[in-house]
Amino acid sequence: MQGIQEILSDAQLDSQGPMWLGKLDDITEEQVVTHLSDLSYKYSPDRFAALVSPAAEGYLEQMAQQAKQLTIQRFGRTIQLYAPLYVSSYCVNNCNYCGYNAGNDYQRTRLSIDEAMADAEVIADEGFRHILLVSGEDKEFVTVDYLCALAGKLRNRFSSISVEIYSMSTGEYAELFKAGIDGVTLYQETYDRQTYRKNHLKGPKSDYDYRIETHDRTASAGMRRIGLGVLLGLANWRIEALAMAEHANYLMKRYWRSGVSFSFPRLRPALNVSDRQENIVIDKQFVQMMLALRLCFADAGIVLSTRERASLRDELVKICVTRISAGSKTNPGGYCTRTESAGQFEIDDDRTAAQVASMIKSVGAEPVWKDWDAGFCSC
Ligand code: SF4
Repeated sequence: MQGIQEILSDAQLDSQGPMWLGKLDDITEEQVVTHLSDLSYKYSPDRFAALVSPAAEGYLEQMAQQAKQLTIQRFGRTIQLYAPLYVSSYCVNNCNYCGYNAGNDYQRTRLSIDEAMADAEVIADEGFRHILLVSGEDKEFVTVDYLCALAGKLRNRFSSISVEIYSMSTGEYAELFKAGIDGVTLYQETYDRQTYRKNHLKGPKSDYDYRIETHDRTASAGMRRIGLGVLLGLANWRIEALAMAEHANYLMKRYWRSGVSFSFPRLRPALNVSDRQENIVIDKQFVQMMLALRLCFADAGIVLSTRERASLRDELVKICVTRISAGSKTNPGGYCTRTESAGQFEIDDDRTAAQVASMIKSVGAEPVWKDWDAGFCSC
């Protein structure tokens, strides 16, 4: 089987040349209708391209109806809740859209295990049983030993622990898995090599190939949950979506034991980072991307963070989203120990976890605080 780099290169999805833009523009409404009448909900590059094409923009209502039914069928009327726990704002990379980038001069924070546990207690007291450990690339401090020791303590309070940290080796992921961490989220940020180069100037993350193979390593290490994502706002969203769909299809075929989920962070204002105006993804396009993914990947998780505003999140939990964060703090110690530390980016939905849970109930769904996959984890 071909590796993901070859697949993307053969399909010209690792470079945003004019070919795909022309191809997407040539898709007709008739083709969209044909794909929407196919209720097998199977992925094919042609079907997905039709659903993210400009021609599908007039069919969002129909897509939303199908996506809603499909989500209820596969996931029930439930929304999983999770909370991020930032453990370090140190980072050796220079991603030029992020407040944590190494060139940014500000007071950084690292949490000791005890401090991290104090924040985790606040999160657990709010009801969460699914926690996501987040950090900049701070290998000196956020070591495998640190993460395993923290996971060992968190297991008493949380049924599911995931990480969103730097890219690791298979052996390192295997150690995390043994310690009780069963999910890894890692965003490719952009699948376009040129855009990737421009935005990741220095540091280990500048290696596109090592990063794109991360999910192979996490799945090989046994991780049950694999999170994919692109940072919307860096390049053309339709071509990014096509690449991410190919990536997901590849992972699902190759590592069928691991569940795949999608995240779509949009660029947000961050400390000392200038706003960008090119490649802005408006709400309508953002929703189209999610609907297209649901209609081609019926069993995939769709994750929405507090980067998005409350009113949009409230609508999307009715249609296709399966997991959301709530009451999030994006600064290490933000829940109790270091409330003044700097955050990675500004959040938009600042409601408490209880308020978000009550919103979920008000739309006829059940908030699930615990990740149901944890029961299948042998660790
Ligand atoms: S996006 Fe991640 S790796 Fe890049 S600078 Fe921010 S924290 Fe570091």
